[in-house]
Amino acid sequence: TLFQDSRGLTAVPSAEQKDGRRRLIVLTGPTAVGKGTVEAQLRQDHPEVWVSVSATTRAPRPGEKDGVTYWFLSEEEFARRQAAGEFLETALVHGMSHYGTPLKPVLQHLAEGQPTILEIDLQGAHRVRQCAPSLGLEVVYVFLAPPTFDDLIIRLNERGTETAEERRKRLETAQLEMASQSEFDVTIVNDTVKQAASALWEIIAREYNL
Ligand code: 5GP
Repeated sequence: TLFQDSRGLTAVPSAEQKDGRRRLIVLTGPTAVGKGTVEAQLRQDHPEVWVSVSATTRAPRPGEKDGVTYWFLSEEEFARRQAAGEFLETALVHGMSHYGTPLKPVLQHLAEGQPTILEIDLQGAHRVRQCAPSLGLEVVYVFLAPPTFDDLIIRLNERGTETAEERRKRLETAQLEMASQSEFDVTIVNDTVKQAASALWEIIAREYNL
């Protein structure tokens, strides 16, 4: 059951800890909601958190570095790795580019007991839900929501890194994603970056007994 906590954040009551399971945080949220900024803040405050670096076939935006924001791959290389079973999950996002979570680093970081976050889209979250039991993963699904849908439109336009057609596709996906919020264990509203990052940290601290 969802409830509003004192800071106006929606959260679920603390889940009973089940020992021996490897816990994973899956963070999903519509385009331009600020997932990257919230994660950067979280990492600055809590360097022990590891955020998975996804592979993608989309072109790098200005300032994005290979191996840091994403592993930027050609379609051929992505397909080769997918066929070799190197991804935990993959998705064709906004009907345009492939994205995937490299499996090995995720398992390595979890084995080391490091708090581990995947920042993936809704389709990816569904795939993780399917394969989590066979990997012995205990997953907490977190949805990062904008204060209002208009905020998304403004942020996407301000970012200015997409063409009009790309923005249209992203907003279409965003509408679908917003409608599926109820599938998630927790919703964090990204009112301010600081507040959202600390709400995310609270979830991590609870799940990892930190
Ligand atoms: P962007 O191109 O704006 O960086 O990301 C577009 C969308 O792809 C976002 O919703 C982001 O969460 C999602 N995404 C990034 N990496 C992955 C991944 O490894 N798997 C999946 N399924 N989605 C991803």
